Amino acid sequence: MTNTIGWALIGASNVARQWVIDAIRAQPDSTVLNVLSSSEERGASFAAENGIPAHTTDLNTILADERVNAVYISTANQFHCRQTLASAGAEKNVLCEKPVALSVADARDMIAACHDAGVVLGVNHHLRCNAMHQKLRDLLHDGAIGRLNAVRVFHANFLPQALHGWRVNDPDGGGLILDSTIHDIDTLRFLMGSNPTHVMAMTQSGRLAHDGVEDGIMVILRFPGDVLVQIHGAYTVPFSEGGMEFYGSEGVLIGRDCMSQRAAGRLFMRNAGGEKEIPVHHHNLYHYALAAFSNAVRGTGQPAATGGDGLAALAIALAIRESARKGRQIEVEIP
Ligand code: NDP
Repeated sequence: MTNTIGWALIGASNVARQWVIDAIRAQPDSTVLNVLSSSEERGASFAAENGIPAHTTDLNTILADERVNAVYISTANQFHCRQTLASAGAEKNVLCEKPVALSVADARDMIAACHDAGVVLGVNHHLRCNAMHQKLRDLLHDGAIGRLNAVRVFHANFLPQALHGWRVNDPDGGGLILDSTIHDIDTLRFLMGSNPTHVMAMTQSGRLAHDGVEDGIMVILRFPGDVLVQIHGAYTVPFSEGGMEFYGSEGVLIGRDCMSQRAAGRLFMRNAGGEKEIPVHHHNLYHYALAAFSNAVRGTGQPAATGGDGLAALAIALAIRESARKGRQIEVEIP
């Protein structure tokens, strides 16, 4: 059992600065020891701005440090696999950002490497840590709206200029599907407790992204039990509120403003008795994820989203991308 968790950040990223450093520090006996950046200058300023005592451009410095027993990987997506394999090889527990990898084969290698090294692999699909989604899942599982018929997901927003970069210009690691739609998929898997069997998608490009990188999407998925799901996602839609609607034989569950990084979201149920709001007691999504991961490192429970969850979400996301590229329905295979 590990008591103090010494963390190193692999990647001087926006998400680490905005959310995850704070969430690590909110956990008992947890400290951030080092940050890796490919740029000496960026690493130095990131460390100084965030009160991190060391920075490095050499992954081996982190991997050789015995005080480091967990790494948070939030580099650009094409680095996740190789940095996870190296970290597992040095017996570091790994919390990796989504998408866990760019191919299912890589994701499988990552899971196997962490398993063989006896370390935890978590994937930071944060939306399943939102208290509103957790309440929604309980209601669905309790049959609150009867037999599920269909679901609609609204996850269109306007990507701020500061986040453009690889998201809008990298045809392999960038694009809306692996950046955002993959969160919708993970959330649907979490809420419905199953994987879609078939997907069909159409994408847009050119409003904000270029070189064929998608910046808008509509997806239709078929889930077991003949449940149809529709997702609208975009980088290009200002003033839109993210949400979800679940249509059942006995009622409708409506989640509003529940697709962001904030501890937000209001839940409503509409049925023969009218519409009522269901109270939700919110918590910080990233604190929740880091608490689950830290407990798993200490031998209790599992990360909020496991490597297997990351792999399944990736496999479905890649099927969606294939459907959009080929213009036809794709059967989902999750190894
Ligand atoms: P960033 O673009 O902020 O960081 C990614 C990498 O880009 C960093 O590791 C850094 O490289 C490099 N970088 C950062 N700033 C600069 C700069 N000014 N000039 C040049 N290079 C720079 O990415 P995000 O934080 O948006 O995303 C990182 C990962 O986290 C991705 O995998 C993404 O999918 C995921 N993500 C997850 C979220 C969640 O809530 N779960 C939310 C947002 C992103 P170096 O390390 O070499 O310094």
